[in-house]
Amino acid sequence: MKLLRTAEDLGTLDSLRDGNLTVVPTMGALHEGHLSLVRAAASHGPVVVTAFVNPTQFAPGEDYDAYPRDLQQDLDLLAPLAPAAVFAPDTATVYGDGRGVTIQPGRYAEGLCGADRPGHFAGVLTVVARLFGLVRPDVAVFGRKDAQQCLVIGEMVADLRLPVRLVDVPTVRENDGLAMSSRNRYLDHAERARAACLWRGLSAARALAQTGERSAARLREAVAAALADADEIEYIQVRSVGDWTAPDRVTGRTLLAVAARVGPARLIDNLVLDITDDGAAPCGLLDHGGNA
Ligand code: AMP
Repeated sequence: MKLLRTAEDLGTLDSLRDGNLTVVPTMGALHEGHLSLVRAAASHGPVVVTAFVNPTQFAPGEDYDAYPRDLQQDLDLLAPLAPAAVFAPDTATVYGDGRGVTIQPGRYAEGLCGADRPGHFAGVLTVVARLFGLVRPDVAVFGRKDAQQCLVIGEMVADLRLPVRLVDVPTVRENDGLAMSSRNRYLDHAERARAACLWRGLSAARALAQTGERSAARLREAVAAALADADEIEYIQVRSVGDWTAPDRVTGRTLLAVAARVGPARLIDNLVLDITDDGAAPCGLLDHGGNA
C-alpha cells in the first residue's frame, strides 16, 4: 500500500492501468462503511483510496474545521485490505490557487440535501471531477448512504460522458440500524441511542410499502412518527429515481430519504426500493441504465 501525496506521486499508478483502476473517494475518518467500499472495489481492479477533506462541499458554519482527521489511523484500518495506494493530497494539489473551474450539478441536486446545503453538490462534483482527473480511474465506488450524491455524480458522468464506470455499495449499519458515519462520533451516549430513529422510520415505511401502501404521504408519515426521537427534522422526501419527481403514488425505483439533527450531528439516511405490483424490494441506484 503506497501513500501518495502529490500529482507527481500518482505516476506510480501507471503500471496498474492495464486492469480497471478503481478509486474509492473518501474524506478519511474511515469506518466499516468505507472499508466495505474498498472491499467491493477490489473485485473490480487495483484500488486507490483517496482521503481528502474537501473544503468546497462545506458551507460556511458547517463542520469543516471540526471534521475528524487522522491519516495514520486510516492507514492502519486500510492496511489489512491492502489497496494499491492511498492518495491523500493537500488542498493546493486538488485546487491550485482556488480560482479555477467548478462544476454545477444538474437536476438531481434539486431538493433534499441540495436545498439544505447550498453549494454542497457543486463542491462534491468539483472535487470528484478533479480527483477523476488526477487518478484517471476506470471504476469509481460510492456508498448508497449518500444516495443523492450518487445520483448527482451519475448525472455528471453521463452528461459529460466521462470514461468511468460508477458502482454503488449498500449502506453499512450499526446493530441498531444506524448508518455508519464519520459524524456519529459527534454523538454522546444518549444521542447515539436516539440516532437509530432514522432507520426505524425508514424500516417502518418499507414495511408499509411491502404490504401494499403506495401513498408517498403515508410513507413519509411512517418515517416522521419515528423521528419524534430526533431534535429536528430537515427533510423526509420520497423521490422517483428515474426522473427525480416527488410522486403522490410510488412506483418503480423509489428513494425514501431523510435528514435530521440529533444533538450536534446532522444525520442522513435513505432506502431505495424497486416498487412493483408484486411488492417493494431493496435495490441499487447506479448500474441500472438510464441516467445513472
Ligand atoms: P465520506 O468520506 O464519509 O464522505 O464517504 C466516502 C464514501 O463512503 C462515500 O461514497 C459514502 O457514501 C461512503 N459511505 C459513508 N458511510 C457509509 C456507510 N455507512 N455505508 C456505505 N458507504 C458509506
